[in-house]
Amino acid sequence: MERPLLPGGTVGILGGGQLGRMSALAARRLGYKVRTFDPSASACAAGVADEHITAEWNDIAALQRFASGCGRITLEFENIPPATVELLSKSVPCHPSANVLAICQNRRREKEFLRASGIPCANFAVVSSLTELQAAVKTVGFPCVLKTADFGYDGKGQFKLPTEAADLKEAWDKIGGAVGVLEAWVPFQLEISVLVARTVDGRTAVYDPAENIHRNHILHLSISPARISESTSNEAKSLAVSIAEKIDLVGLLAVEMFVKDGRIIVNELAPRPHNSGHQTFDAHQTSQFEQHIRAVCGLPLGGTKPFVPSAMVNLLGDLWRGGQEPDWTKVLADPSAKLHLYDKGKAAPGRKMGHITVTSSTLEEAIRRAEALHAAL
Ligand code: AMP
Repeated sequence: MERPLLPGGTVGILGGGQLGRMSALAARRLGYKVRTFDPSASACAAGVADEHITAEWNDIAALQRFASGCGRITLEFENIPPATVELLSKSVPCHPSANVLAICQNRRREKEFLRASGIPCANFAVVSSLTELQAAVKTVGFPCVLKTADFGYDGKGQFKLPTEAADLKEAWDKIGGAVGVLEAWVPFQLEISVLVARTVDGRTAVYDPAENIHRNHILHLSISPARISESTSNEAKSLAVSIAEKIDLVGLLAVEMFVKDGRIIVNELAPRPHNSGHQTFDAHQTSQFEQHIRAVCGLPLGGTKPFVPSAMVNLLGDLWRGGQEPDWTKVLADPSAKLHLYDKGKAAPGRKMGHITVTSSTLEEAIRRAEALHAAL
């Protein structure tokens, strides 16, 4: 059995985005050394790592240099070739595994895994041509949504087909992929997500569901706890744990779900920290980033209880109007707000540049303050 990697050891993180940055900060706080790997030299995690390696995912010499001296390797980004993780795992334990990564980065494999595991998900069909799409709409029905199998996130690579009048050829051309997944549209009441951590020896820790509100397909607000019944919350948590066990996860998994009439339908899996878990930094016993590092290193898992209700609002590059930095003093002056900026350099519309977490004794007040601070910027 793999032995825990204790503080003082070196954790390697594949990917240098904000999730890697916040994971690196958590690892360093625990006393680990951190080495990051990303094709970009200016990746925002690089600034908080002990060492950053800039190279492509298939650069074997650079990967060997990265692995050398690391006691554990993890990732913060899904679209890394599983072959990269496979190669690294020959010399260093890598969590999550290449297999977990391969399932979660491809909608076809993900849906097929969920269906085969008996996890409730939207009805779907795999399509690899326009003819197959024309046949699939008859079994899946309208409304439905066509998604690319690879590289989809934040609603990218998706085309909704509301009624029979929808132009299937246009949809097929639009996703432009070799393989797609046609999914029944779920008229949900709420979107929630559950974070679950699991260690190599099968210990798990699960957080209460967060409720997620999107704008233009990008997460805008994540509130905790979700406004659902205790039984729905328990069902969501037990499904997340069951998925983590069935996929043999080691690390952290975010499970995105729809809630419809009190029932849970699983939408997506992300085997890494997730945007909807950022409030755990300021409102929970253990942040998702620390939990990720604890799980990957085989340490005891931390408590998952919230101290207070919280609302997290994303700060997108759109707030930098005309390239001008927003006036952060408006946020910093609010004692209930915490400002997190990712030091990403150039702001662009839709780019996640930071977030604010507001805590309060009531959820309504946390949401109100978070929205007000966002609007004030
Ligand atoms: P995804 O990239 O699959 O996470 O989808 C992005 C967003 O599109 C989700 O958070 C939902 O708001 C919406 N969406 C995706 N699939 C469906 C579906 N089958 N039914 C209803 N809404 C969906």
